[in-house]
Amino acid sequence: MSYLPTIGLETHVQLRTVSKMFCSCSAHYADALANTHVCPVCMGAPGVLPVINAQAVRFTILSGLALNCTINTFSRFDRKNYPYPDLVKGYQISQYDNPLCIHGYLDITTDGEPHRVRIRRIHLEEDTAKLTHVTGELGEGESLIDINRSGVPLMEIVSEPDLRTPQEARQYLQALRLVLVTIGVASGNLEEGALRFDVNISLRAESESEFGAKVEIKNLNSFRSVQRALEYEIARQTQALEQGQHLVQETRGWLDDRGITVSQRTKEFAHDYRYFPEPDLPPLILSQAEIDALRASLPELPEARRQRLISTAGLSSGDASVIAADVSLARYYDELVHNGAPPKPAANWLLNDLLGLLNSRGESLETSRVTPARLTALIALVQNGTISTSIGRQVLAKMLDTDVSAGSIVAAEGLAQVSDTHALVSLIEETIDANAKALVDYLSGKEAAFNSFVGPVMKATRGKANPAIVRDLLRQALDRRRATVQS
Ligand code: ADP
Ligand code: MG
Ligand code: ZN
Repeated sequence: MSYLPTIGLETHVQLRTVSKMFCSCSAHYADALANTHVCPVCMGAPGVLPVINAQAVRFTILSGLALNCTINTFSRFDRKNYPYPDLVKGYQISQYDNPLCIHGYLDITTDGEPHRVRIRRIHLEEDTAKLTHVTGELGEGESLIDINRSGVPLMEIVSEPDLRTPQEARQYLQALRLVLVTIGVASGNLEEGALRFDVNISLRAESESEFGAKVEIKNLNSFRSVQRALEYEIARQTQALEQGQHLVQETRGWLDDRGITVSQRTKEFAHDYRYFPEPDLPPLILSQAEIDALRASLPELPEARRQRLISTAGLSSGDASVIAADVSLARYYDELVHNGAPPKPAANWLLNDLLGLLNSRGESLETSRVTPARLTALIALVQNGTISTSIGRQVLAKMLDTDVSAGSIVAAEGLAQVSDTHALVSLIEETIDANAKALVDYLSGKEAAFNSFVGPVMKATRGKANPAIVRDLLRQALDRRRATVQS
């Protein structure tokens, strides 16, 4: 008997705002000393009043629009109560039954087939403090708390259970991250915990139409751990079902180093969050005009960009996908073309040459000395025949080490192609004279002998001769020889 997995994902996204969700503390804590970005509001002192961060609201609306959601003109904040040390107030301000965005979708491509993943809702809440469990001097079981993260705007995107495999779940998350980074609402930096995932998975027999009991695995922080945890759960639940066990709804934790999940609590012991409308905040009322203005400000989205690269730039679907899947790559490519580089050579030089060189040197596109303007100038030199493609590659490698332009390198090192026919003609005559055997072969009709002259001529010019011109002049020279022999 085989079982079908059903997967739904909840994605927590830290928003790239300047300040926190309900106070004016800085939301950027990566390099800050612990507990320095704090104030009475995010510390939960009695009597203080939260204020809604307008930028966080705009970012959430933008995300909703990019994910094809309906934006609710009326939404509200609620208190979610639970006792845990990472929540200094004793409650989290979140949105419960009136979220900002509902009913969206994200289209992904799996195995070459389009697949639509429905988005149930997107709501706004605040991040919690960071707990670090330590051992050592402080002894086993001590925990340190850093409140800097508490109150950072957190957007939660809840999918419908529309994903069918761990691989598909990963593709959805990658596509989602790309959209959020493209529209500028999130850094998407997984190492810094700027995206965190709760995954829900159930199995059902093929003959069964109802979903099975779902297992939720909370707080995963990488695409890899999402995929591994799901693969593990599918294997574990399949085995349990095959043994005739009855699975129950539960929350499980993922132990990354051991590659397993362990039960944390079952439905019976689920938290009762005692949600109620946040009494310190008014409802959030939006006008359609505000929403429309935000819609108009959306940049080109990744899927539209991919389509454009195929249809107007004429790129292969492979090249278009690679470029569209990376925000900095796409920006760089668009600048090349904007600066006048022809679309296809631009893609080739960027993907095949520049990225290859950067990878082998462990450098990144953003910090490379070869700016789009500089690469455009190099491409122009190759396109107009000043230098050959292979010389162009050498020049590119040099550009990575210096602040010198392609034009200056070509001039300083005398790399321009030799198209001066006088010099080439005498070189060709010398080469023919020096290869008497090849000449006899050629004159006796062996076309292959032609190429045995090309190599030496190119070599003598150290690769700078324009190959097309060399071949032309060589053909003429050999024809003259044939005429002399016949007369
Ligand atoms: P809860 O009330 O426990 O939060 P929800 O129904 O609100 O559960 O769904 C939370 C997440 O779990 C959503 O992303 C949803 O798509 C997913 N989900 C719901 N039911 C299932 C199921 N049977 N199997 C897998 N995922 C599910
Ligand atoms: Mg949940
Ligand atoms: Zn604060």
